[in-house]
Amino acid sequence: MPTDIEIARQATLKPIAEVAAKAGVPDEALIPYGKYKAKIDRNALPASSSQGKLILVTAINPTPAGEGKTTTSVGLSDALHRIGKKTMLCLREPSLGPCFGMKGGGAGGGKSQVMPMDEINLHFTGDFHAITSAHNLLAAMIDNSIYWSNPLDIDVRRIVWKRVLDMNDRALRQIAGPLGGVANGFPRESGFDITVASEIMAILCLASDIEDLQERLGNIVIGYKRDRTPVFCRDVKADRAMTVLLKDAIQPNMVQTLENNPAFLHGGPFANIAHGCNSVIATTTALKMADYVVTEAGFGADLGAEKFLDVKCRIAGLKPDAVVLVATVRALKMNGGVAKADLTEENVGAVRAGAVNLKRHIENLRKFGIQPTVAINHFYLDTDAEIAVIREMAAEFDTDAVVCKHWADGGAGAEELARIVADKADAGAPDFTPLYPDDIPLADKIETVAREIYRAAEVNIPPAVRKQLQQWEEMGHGHFPVCMAKTQYSFSTDPTKLGAPEGHEVTVREVRLSAGAGFVVAICGDIMTMPGLPKVPSAEAIYLDENGQIEGLF
Ligand code: ADP
Ligand code: MG
Repeated sequence: MPTDIEIARQATLKPIAEVAAKAGVPDEALIPYGKYKAKIDRNALPASSSQGKLILVTAINPTPAGEGKTTTSVGLSDALHRIGKKTMLCLREPSLGPCFGMKGGGAGGGKSQVMPMDEINLHFTGDFHAITSAHNLLAAMIDNSIYWSNPLDIDVRRIVWKRVLDMNDRALRQIAGPLGGVANGFPRESGFDITVASEIMAILCLASDIEDLQERLGNIVIGYKRDRTPVFCRDVKADRAMTVLLKDAIQPNMVQTLENNPAFLHGGPFANIAHGCNSVIATTTALKMADYVVTEAGFGADLGAEKFLDVKCRIAGLKPDAVVLVATVRALKMNGGVAKADLTEENVGAVRAGAVNLKRHIENLRKFGIQPTVAINHFYLDTDAEIAVIREMAAEFDTDAVVCKHWADGGAGAEELARIVADKADAGAPDFTPLYPDDIPLADKIETVAREIYRAAEVNIPPAVRKQLQQWEEMGHGHFPVCMAKTQYSFSTDPTKLGAPEGHEVTVREVRLSAGAGFVVAICGDIMTMPGLPKVPSAEAIYLDENGQIEGLF
C-alpha cells in the first residue's frame, strides 16, 4: 500500500493557472504563489448572481486516527466533477503543529488528496504566519502600553490575550514574564496557545470582507481594567496594523485535488474553542463560482456540524443544502466497545452495537431539519458482513447509506454518493433551522446544546459562570451563538463514554468571550489550546532524502 506522500509524488499536477481558469477565475484575479498554489483576488472575479448548493461533510464520533471527513470531502468533490457537476471544494488549512505530532496531515489521504500536500501541510501561503504575527503584535502592544505608564489602566491580572505559535509545545502553556527587571516591564503570568486557537483565526474565518475583519479585530476584548470594564483591541490601537498584516491572508487559497479539480483551502480555526470550519470568504466565493460546494466541519457532528450550523451558517447567513455523515467500520466498532488494538479484526456484533452512535447523530441532524446521507468510508480490512450491518442499520434509521471507495479509487469510488447527494442538494433542506434563536439568554443556549445534542440529563452552570455570562449580556453580547468546547470522542464530556451515553451531567467549567469573532466559548471538560507532542513525535521520522524529497510526512 503506497503511503499518502508516495501517491502524492506520483501525481501529475496542472499549473494552478490552468485549474483556476477551468473554475472560471480570470487571469487578473489570480495571484500565483509558485506553480501550484494561488490566492484569488475576490474583487477581480466577474460578478455572479448565481448561488451554488452547499454540501457539508461531517462524521460520527471518531477513533483517534480520524474517520475520513477530509478524505471523503475530496473524494465527493472529485466524484461530482466526474458526473459532470461544476463543483468547488472548501477545506481548512492544516496546522503545522499536528504534522510533527501524531495526527498526520489535513490534506486527505490515499487517492483523495489535495496537492501539493507537503506544501499545504508545511508553510503553504503564509496565512498562519500572518495570523501569528497579527496576534503577537497585539500582545506586544498590550505589554508596551502597560510599560509606558499603562494609560488604559489595564489590570495586569486580568489580561486574557495570550501569545500564539504554530507548534505543539507544551512548555509554553504557562509562562511568567516579562522577567529581568525594570527595563523589561511588569512580570505577570501568561501563556501560549497554538495559532489555530487564536481568536484572529476565528475572525479571519468569519469575516465577510476586509472592513468587517478590521471591525471584528477592533472588537476583541484583550482584558479588563481595574474597575472590571473591558479593554478592546481598538483601545490599544492595534486593529489597523493587524489588518495590514492580514490583507493577503484574507484572500482564499486555491490548490487542486489529485484529479486536478479546484479546491479552496482557507483558514483553519480549532474545532473546540473555535468553530472549526474554513473561511466564510472561501465558502461564499465558491458558492458564486460553482453549482456545488463541498465543505468539512471539524470533529464529529455533535461538535463540528452543530457549530457549522449554529455558528458559521448563522453568522454568515448560509444554509446547507445537503449533509454527508461519514461512518467507518472501525469507529462503529470502537463505539461498540472494541479496544483500539482489536479494531482490525472482524466484529459484526460490535458494528451493530456501535450503530447507536450513528443513529444519534442522524437524530440530532434531524433537529436542524436535515436528512443526512451516510457515507461508509471503506477501509480495506472492512468485511462485507460488517458493511452489510451498517447498511441494514441505516435502513432501519430511514437513511441512505452508500459505500465509498474514494480513498482507494479516487472520485470514481464515490460516484454513487455524488449522485445521491447532488439530488438531495437540488431538492435542498427546506426545513433548515438553527438549534436555538439569537434572543434567548446565553446560559439557555448552552443548555439547549447540552440537552438536545449531547443528551445531558443535568447541565451544571456554576454561579460564577452564570454571572460572567450575564455581564457579557449586559455588555451587548447576548445575541452571540455559543461555541461549545468538549471532547470529540463522546457525546458526553467524558472521552471514554462511547456509543450513545445517556443520563450524564455536563458541567461548564469556564466561559470565554470571543467578542471579535462573535461567539461565547463554553468549555466543558479539559480542553487543550496548546497541544503537546507524543512520546515519539512524527517529527523524528520526517527528513529530506538524497534527492531533496520529503520523507516521512505520512
Ligand atoms: P478527518 O478529516 O475526519 O480527521 P481524514 O480524512 O484526515 O479524517 O483521515 C484521517 C486519516 O485516515 C488520514 O491519514 C487518511 O489518509 C486516513 N484514511 C481516510 N480514509 C481512509 C480509508 N478509506 N482507508 C485508509 N485510510 C483512510
Ligand atoms: Mg479533516
